[in-house]
Amino acid sequence: MCERGLIQVYTGAGKGKTTAALGLALRAVGQGMKVIVIQFIKGDRSCGEHRFCARYRPFELVQLNPGDSFVQTREELRETTERTLAFAQKTVVSGQYDVVILDEILVAVSKGLVTSEEALELMGRKARKTELVLTGRGATKEIIEKADLVTEMVAIKHPFDSGITGRKGIEY
Ligand code: ATP
Ligand code: MG
Repeated sequence: MCERGLIQVYTGAGKGKTTAALGLALRAVGQGMKVIVIQFIKGDRSCGEHRFCARYRPFELVQLNPGDSFVQTREELRETTERTLAFAQKTVVSGQYDVVILDEILVAVSKGLVTSEEALELMGRKARKTELVLTGRGATKEIIEKADLVTEMVAIKHPFDSGITGRKGIEY
């Protein structure tokens, strides 16, 4: 097991950020590591990764938003994002996990629901051994600077642009 965990960022407008993080989770669990995925913004427990985790329990997948972010008011989304951030802070400093994935936290930052300072503080306080992964469009310059690994998914082509909407098992 690694001595010191690094900080990874998957950002950009192309597809593959969340699925890359889930792929990393699969690999880490295969090596006996303890993994938790905490999802910001999303409030959809019927997506494939939730069903997979409910059925096989490969790692923890936590979603504290009880509602649908597309219909929630900003106040509702703010309240649930605050609770998610508090849980993420506790988890990241705890040292209880080898890998902590904060899925869509960068979207929460882009929407002004988590400040860039709060995200940076969280990155700075992570337990030494923990590998921390942040995903979502729109990583700020400061977050990119503080990370050890940054990958930008570039949307060269996406079927959404030709009218093919999200497909079960592929996009959710
Ligand atoms: P995935 O979950 O498939 O890895 P992602 O995490 O990179 O995608 P998000 O920005 O979180 O993508 O977008 C949420 C949803 O929008 C996903 O279902 C994703 O497949 C889809 N999506 C990603 N990129 C694009 C794009 N360029 N145009 C339209 N939809 C997209
Ligand atoms: Mg995503």
